[in-house]
Amino acid sequence: MELSYDLVVIGAGTAGIPCAAEAALGGATVLLVEKDHQIGGTMHVSGGHMAAAGTRRQAERGIADSPEAHLADIHRISGGTARDDLVRINVEHAAETVDWLDDRGFRFAAETPRIVYGHEPYETARTYYGTDEAMSILEVFRGLLDEAVATGRLELWKNSPVIGLTTDDDNRVTRVTVIHGGQDVEVRARQVVLATGGFAAEPELFLELEGAPLVSAAHPTSTGDGILLAQELGAAVAGMGSFLPSFGGLPHPTSPGRATWSDRQILTATERPPVEIYVDRSGRRWVAEDEPSIDLKERALTRIEDMTFWTVFDDAMLESTRSTRPLVVGWTPEDLRAQANLRLGVHSADTLEELAQTAGIDPAGLASTVTRYNEAVAAGVDSDFGRTHLPMPLLQGPFYAIRNHAISLVTFAGLDIDSDFRVRRTDGTSIPNLYAIGEVIGAAATCGQSFCSGMLITPAITFGRLLGRRLAAAKE
Ligand SMILES: Cc1cc2nc3c(=O)[nH]c(=O)nc-3n(C[C@H](O)[C@H](O)[C@H](O)COP(=O)(O)OP(=O)(O)OC[C@H]3O[C@@H](n4cnc5c(N)ncnc54)[C@H](O)[C@@H]3O)c2cc1C
Repeated sequence: MELSYDLVVIGAGTAGIPCAAEAALGGATVLLVEKDHQIGGTMHVSGGHMAAAGTRRQAERGIADSPEAHLADIHRISGGTARDDLVRINVEHAAETVDWLDDRGFRFAAETPRIVYGHEPYETARTYYGTDEAMSILEVFRGLLDEAVATGRLELWKNSPVIGLTTDDDNRVTRVTVIHGGQDVEVRARQVVLATGGFAAEPELFLELEGAPLVSAAHPTSTGDGILLAQELGAAVAGMGSFLPSFGGLPHPTSPGRATWSDRQILTATERPPVEIYVDRSGRRWVAEDEPSIDLKERALTRIEDMTFWTVFDDAMLESTRSTRPLVVGWTPEDLRAQANLRLGVHSADTLEELAQTAGIDPAGLASTVTRYNEAVAAGVDSDFGRTHLPMPLLQGPFYAIRNHAISLVTFAGLDIDSDFRVRRTDGTSIPNLYAIGEVIGAAATCGQSFCSGMLITPAITFGRLLGRRLAAAKE
């Protein structure tokens, strides 16, 4: 007997779960297909920051905000490079998303909503996250899925990668091919939603579509499957050329080419005024370390050799961070000393020359940079980069260097969709019955050529819910 559903949702992650669940709760029969052994996708590693204006939680705290103000902030931060239609849909429904999570028992971190400074800050406190980052969202989603499964209309297949989409003579998507139980299974579907995530764990596709080498801190399932599946049907890719890396992230201890986001340096000047200097491979400084705009620092990073740099400091500098936020999230000065020359990318030596040699920095370049920096500290003026926070010279060993690379958590390019979330071909027409939501549409759609706080997770959930409900209603 042929398996047939009103809706097949591919990917049980941030966007796919709410889409599938809302559709089933709305009366549609749904197959939710997940290639991994577990549901959740990127929620297992994500910070889970969401952004919404006009929520109940803001009102309770006396924070005046509106979707228009959120839209204006995104416009300012992205320089108007995001998709206005999609951003508008998101900001108009984001409060509903956050209130809905609230109704379902979402465990908000007590300090939220707040202004977050890891990206260019919004002007209003409208970023929310859970006590357990994105896992707090997944906790709510598990309950939601249980409810949807209990209707008898939603089936969930895990360990089941989708490997093909089939169209009929009118080019409508009518079937998906899934490897399930070790076999290729054909499933008939009236509608198909791609919610497969981004591709920041797939170096070749990353180089092709983002135009940069990949050092990944993404979830390993982010391999771009949805993009490849839809491209077979002539889908267009939008947002190319928007690549922007994240700043910080220690080299992964065991996987070359990966970085860890949980172990990252705090490099946003508003979060921790820098004591250290940043040098490139030749030992030269390349930016004012206290530059308040993280966006500007991220862009400067893309222009240095290999997009690689080291933070360099001495023990007195390290000790001084005891009274500020730490150099590395969660690491005391003792932790950092203990990790030196043990953890990949964390170096220490008694002399600057030795430090440079072990870290892979040009020793002569580093020596002259440190001399010049110390002169700037003594004069109180950094005539090279205009850094104004010059708390202490870099003088006395032991010295430290921590290697950083531009890292990618998300991908900016993705499937081009219309404002009904239908996947479009290169000629602008939509592929009948095929939709895409979540990071598979590319971060550029909702963030433009920038990072806007919460503007991946929130649209993923919001578009998922909207589309799930809409497709269930359309079935009537
Ligand atoms: C470390 C980190 C921190 C982040 N912090 C934030 C943040 O604070 N705020 C924010 O807005 N964004 C953040 N992001 C980005 C955000 O988390 C993601 O963009 C978002 O979660 C992606 O949701 P998604 O549903 O598109 O993909 P996912 O949640 O990754 O789900 C996709 C699912 O599809 C499955 N899948 C893929 N291919 C197939 C296939 N062929 N067949 C079947 N299943 C398939 C995958 O296994 C996965 O389960 C962060 C990302 C990272 C890595």
